[in-house]
Amino acid sequence: MRIVRFRGPEGIAYGTAEPDGIRVAQGSPLVEWEPTDTVLPFDAVELLSPVLPTKVVCVGRNYVDHAAELGNEVPERPLMFLKPSTSVIGQGAAIVLPPDSTNVQYEGELAIVIRTLTRNVRAEDVAGHILGYTCANDVTARDLQRLDVQFTRGKGFDTFCPLGPAIATEFDPLEGMRIATTVNGEVRQDGSTADMVFGVAELIEFMSRVMTLLPGDVVLTGTPAGVGPMVAGDVVAVEIEGIGSLVNPVVSARDPRS
Ligand code: ZN
Repeated sequence: MRIVRFRGPEGIAYGTAEPDGIRVAQGSPLVEWEPTDTVLPFDAVELLSPVLPTKVVCVGRNYVDHAAELGNEVPERPLMFLKPSTSVIGQGAAIVLPPDSTNVQYEGELAIVIRTLTRNVRAEDVAGHILGYTCANDVTARDLQRLDVQFTRGKGFDTFCPLGPAIATEFDPLEGMRIATTVNGEVRQDGSTADMVFGVAELIEFMSRVMTLLPGDVVLTGTPAGVGPMVAGDVVAVEIEGIGSLVNPVVSARDPRS
């Protein structure tokens, strides 16, 4: 099943992507929902971020080749940081380059969507806590991240967490699904979800010992090698085999101080 959230003729709703369109559901997959008989054509809806997380919990340097390309060692324990809920956007929404940075980069990542309240969960019990997986772009102002080692500032701007297009509920990262990022159609990152240093179960066990993950919260699992800059006018896509392609244009912000 591929779960989407969208704005349609009757407002915002959840549904499932089917070959002929989107089957509208009543309620939410995080609480209780029921499919209806209504199927909307794809061009009648605007896809939104498939969830509205209270927080996005991330890990850095979780692929060996990416840690190496930035001159870093793979950490002994997951290197955790947060992106705020206000950084989340959906399919097709613009990534806005902030005036404070001159080096904003894409990071294509596999995102885990949490289904149930998750606290102190053991790795072997993690599967029941996951609703599914989607694509993410951990957009990063690399210059600001490095300046004073400010992960929160470098990765926390509004629009810096595109998610989507859908949540795939039958997906297994251990099967080694291709994760690729393109800029204007040119492949920049090309990795496999099987190459994570810390796997999904380990990450959630580790994170849930620190903070309670709530239904709809999102965990980003790190990026493979090939990160690089984006400029206004670019179109960036994160494509994961078995999930889909998350596409976002890049625009510059007007400097609020000018
Ligand atoms: Zn990242």
